[in-house]
This record gives sequence, structure tokens and C-alpha cells, in this order.
Amino acid sequence: MSHHNPDSVLPDGYDLDREYSELEGRDGRTYLQFATHMTTFYKQTYGEHSRFMLGLREGRLIGARCPQCGNVAVPANTWHCPNCAFAEMEEVELPQTGILAHTAPITIFPSSTFVGDAPFARGYIDVAVDAPVAGFLPSRLRTTTGLVRPGIFVKGLALKCVFEDVRYGSIRDIFWVPLSEIPEHLRDKQPLLASELDFASPVPPEVAVVPSQVAHRDEAVAALKRLASDVERSRRAQTDLAHQWYFLGVRTAGGEFGLKVDDGRLVVHEDLPAEADIIVVAEDPAVFTRWVHDGSLIDAAVEGALWLPHKEAFQALTVLDRLPRSIRRDLR
Ligand SMILES: [Zn+2]
Repeated sequence: MSHHNPDSVLPDGYDLDREYSELEGRDGRTYLQFATHMTTFYKQTYGEHSRFMLGLREGRLIGARCPQCGNVAVPANTWHCPNCAFAEMEEVELPQTGILAHTAPITIFPSSTFVGDAPFARGYIDVAVDAPVAGFLPSRLRTTTGLVRPGIFVKGLALKCVFEDVRYGSIRDIFWVPLSEIPEHLRDKQPLLASELDFASPVPPEVAVVPSQVAHRDEAVAALKRLASDVERSRRAQTDLAHQWYFLGVRTAGGEFGLKVDDGRLVVHEDLPAEADIIVVAEDPAVFTRWVHDGSLIDAAVEGALWLPHKEAFQALTVLDRLPRSIRRDLR
């Protein structure tokens, strides 16, 4: 569903199958229905905003500064100061570091345009910190430490601007990463490119095994084994897991375990084998016990109780979250 072909305006998944179907009208008669479309394309200029967008293409971040009052427009969307009788403004190079102006919200359920990108964070960044008056730049926020979660993008955080390797002249050409995550030798680089950072292999957070949590881990594994045997008897649950194969390794403060999804089946492993495809980390093993009792792994991830490495793990959990309900509907 997300934008795969950057050369076309409509993202993949915005087409319909050619379909002719019959349906019954209110008068009881049969009517024929067909799939069709209504599309409007148009071209639009960025107007005065163009210089800023052209700057992004060049790997530069620019603002428009009024020589009279010192106001800096960020992003540079006008070149005539509204406060000084539209005095001509001058281009200033903005630093490619900034400060997060407000704690950023995380979008879990986006509009259709951004399905597949979620969850993601957006925030307002103060880049012209030295100017007497300046706007904040709205932009995407990313972390190299796994899926975005609460507690990372908080007000006052120092950020580094990162440019996509392929740029079009869009605000999506850039995003911001916590400065503390940028290797020392890259912190002053301008522009810093996305390909110079590693988003693909985040290091799972360390979790030490605490003896008092071991019993909770055992409870979770016992609950998961009951869930797995219920899946064997629930057609809905088997359909949820059909055509999916992966090994989920779980680390908790009560010890490790594994969950194997095997084309309609769920298999619980007492240990975490080296071949795990996805490693997730929950300090509290009861996250999984609660899930089996009609809780939600997605909620745990959203609340920050469950660490996930990437969006693919998030998608896998949205499927797992259906299991308790599917089982309840089939068996209870
Ligand atoms: Zn001015």
C-alpha cells in the first residue's frame, strides 16, 4: 500500500480489480454493479517555497532572514518579511542540527497515504536557535535503535538532520535522528545521507535476568502453550497465521523463549535458538501472559513495554494480536 514506484503519482494498491457483481436492491430486484474510477491529476508549484525545496535537493537547509527585524522563516516559505512592509529577505544557511521543540506524537494508525510507514513520529524542530524570531521545521523523526517508541523524542532532544540519498524536492527528503545516535565522525557532516547510518540492524536493549521474574516467564510460556494448542482447534486462528513462517525470539527479565509461526500453527520453544528471525524484548514477561488473556502485543509496543526492531515486527504483531479473539469466537 505504500509508495513503491516513485515515478508514479498514485501509490501501489490504489487500483481495483475489474469487477462486475450482482446485488439486491431495496425493491428486491437484482442490480449489476461494476468497479470504475474517478481521478484528477494536476501539477502545482511550490511557489516561494521552491527555493527551500531546491535547497533540500542540493543537501542544504535554508531559511529566509529579514535584514531589518532579524526574523528567520523556517522553512523558507516567503522571501518578503510580513512584519517589515514586505522587505526583501536574504538566504541563510541553517545548521543541520536542531532541538526538538515539543515531545513528538507517534502515529500508529495513519491515513491511507502512509499505511505501511506506521508507526512513525513527526515533530517540530528548532533549527534557527540563534535568531530572535524563527519558526519550527515540521519533519519526520527516526531512530537507529529499533521501532520508534515513547521516551525517545522528548522536548529538548538534540537532533541531526539526515538527507535521503535520492531526493525529489519534498519535505520527505529529510528526517531527523537523535544526535547521540550519530557516530562521532559523522556529526558535523553536511549533508549526512541516510545510507551512512544503519537502521536495519538495531541492537536489542540489554535485559538482565532477575530471579523473581523467572516464575512470571514460566507462567507466560505455560499460557502461550495453551494458546498454541487452542490454535490447533480454531479455524479462525489458523487462517490468521496462514502462509506465514517466522521465528520470534523473546527476551525478558525472567528468561528467554521462542514462538514459531509455521503456516497456520504456533509452536512454543523453551529457549531462544540462534535462527530466530525477529528478536523482541520485554522486561516484564507478563506482557505475553496478558496478551493470551485477550490483551494486546501492539498496545505493549505502543506503550513502550515491548521493544521491536522494525516495522516488519510491528506488522507481525498485528496478526498475532488477532489470535486470542479468534480463539474466543471459535472455542468459547
Ligand atoms: Zn522583518
